Amino acid sequence: MQKISYVVNSFGCLLYHMLHDMLVRAMKNIHTRLPRPRLYFDAAATTPLDGRVCNAMQPFLKKHFGNAGSIHTEGVFAKHALADARQSISRVLGAHPDEIIFTSGGTESNNLAIFGVVENALKEVSGDYRKIHVVTSAIEHSSVLEVCREIEKRGGRVSYIPVDAHGRILIAELKKQLTPQTTLVSVMLANNEIGTLQPISEIGKAIRKVRKEKHSLYPYMHVDAAQAPVYVPVHVPQLGIDLLSIDGHKIYGPQGVGLLYMRRGVAIEPRFYGGGQEGGHRSGTEPLALVIGMAEALEIAEDEREKNVRKMRLLHNYFVERLHARLSETVLNGDEKEGLPNIVNVSIPETESDFLVIALDERGIACASRSACHAQDDSSYVVSALKKGREIADGTVRFSMLTTTTKKEIKYVVSMLEEAVAEAKRARAIVNEQRLH
Ligand code: PLP
Repeated sequence: MQKISYVVNSFGCLLYHMLHDMLVRAMKNIHTRLPRPRLYFDAAATTPLDGRVCNAMQPFLKKHFGNAGSIHTEGVFAKHALADARQSISRVLGAHPDEIIFTSGGTESNNLAIFGVVENALKEVSGDYRKIHVVTSAIEHSSVLEVCREIEKRGGRVSYIPVDAHGRILIAELKKQLTPQTTLVSVMLANNEIGTLQPISEIGKAIRKVRKEKHSLYPYMHVDAAQAPVYVPVHVPQLGIDLLSIDGHKIYGPQGVGLLYMRRGVAIEPRFYGGGQEGGHRSGTEPLALVIGMAEALEIAEDEREKNVRKMRLLHNYFVERLHARLSETVLNGDEKEGLPNIVNVSIPETESDFLVIALDERGIACASRSACHAQDDSSYVVSALKKGREIADGTVRFSMLTTTTKKEIKYVVSMLEEAVAEAKRARAIVNEQRLH
């Protein structure tokens, strides 16, 4: 046992030192070699601001800076601009303007939706958390999973529904968990790591059936759509849901703004108390320029979705073909046919995620991994949930393309990945050799 832990530790140590070495080299690159051409393949983390969005925001950053709550001319101007943005967003979502609550982003929208519903439901059960039941999937974003864990700490019950090998929620399992006591179901529209889309309308139907049978308002259905709008319609009546989170900076809008759609008739407890903005659901001065930017970004996403999907499908196929041709051991994660077309998530056996990401960064490419150090917990929990084995979860890299990505860039990325994989395997070989001595 001691020997095993020694081997594991020394293996970990060596990898750590190699990673550290690469990080130092990468930092040197940043300072000595910038500016150098960079290829950005991390759109799922954040997207650059669309030029049109930037133009729409500009007047509200300097000239029209009024507070929408003030009654003077500047304030009234801001109030009208805010109302226009709300109107435009509600058109895209197929919602009423009073169903839109502006927030600071995806995390806040998810927190507000889940805690908001749960704390409102608690009022009906004398604050007894044991009467709260939330259903979610095992591969939600941490801004949903951590809220669920907090609910558990407070005495509530949470069912984490597993997914299949493509990351699709096991819907039969979900239906089994829906009881008359279920307060809320929260399932994401598109996964941020592997791009898999969830069968939201089908889940919504199952929920409405439970509601009808028990003549209740509950369970409510919340959908985290942070990653979706550029490629997937977010028309709420079609999705048949009660609450929906959207995030400005995942859709070529600004960082620091998001929204929660909340269907009329749904009740939530606020998380912030103050000036009573946003119908009292979210106090705090609305960030007008950011809201204007998000509204513009959402309209562009809606108008250009078809074109973007068409283009991205071709690029996705090209990326996969090239990967198979150059790195035949590559395992694709996610739902290749129906997932988000801009996400290519791959695992390469006998490699380690962070090593690959840093090696690619050194070669001018920004992509992503889950922090993958040594412990099981540090592997991607999303890829782990696909149950393809530890080796696959450990060597995972996510490439998420921008709408401006080209074939030439993909070709370069794959050739650099080939180099990075060779480097990672050499590092492994050194580590294994060390283990023998
Ligand atoms: N939900 C999903 C699916 C996400 O991908 C993210 C961000 O990565 C969030 C929520 C949280 O967004 P933010 O960090 O902007 O609050």
